[in-house]
Amino acid sequence: MTRCSHTDQIEITELPAEVAGCAECLADGGVWLHLRICLTCGHVGCCDDSPAKHATAHARGTEHPIIRSLEPGEEWCWCFEDEVGMLIPQIKGRTKIPPSPMLSR
Ligand SMILES: [Zn+2]
Ligand SMILES: [Zn+2]
Ligand SMILES: [Zn+2]
Repeated sequence: MTRCSHTDQIEITELPAEVAGCAECLADGGVWLHLRICLTCGHVGCCDDSPAKHATAHARGTEHPIIRSLEPGEEWCWCFEDEVGMLIPQIKGRTKIPPSPMLSR
């Protein structure tokens, strides 16, 4: 089984109390389905089921390898480099997120 070798790039171990949504979608007037946070810099982007896939775009553009889901009840992380999912118990906190603009209209 593949193991992630990038956990030394995790800088965010405390999740923000609240986020407004996907950073780029908010700037562009776009919509997102689910939110992911970059564990290197804290960038909030949208998932691959969202039209613009900003979380993946952020990872590719910055080489920040690991995201964590911000969806309620979801604690999984994903490494884009190793393409492996994992749980990282060191990440603390729970983030309040707004409802998806794709679902609420
Ligand atoms: Zn990795
Ligand atoms: Zn987005
Ligand atoms: Zn980042």
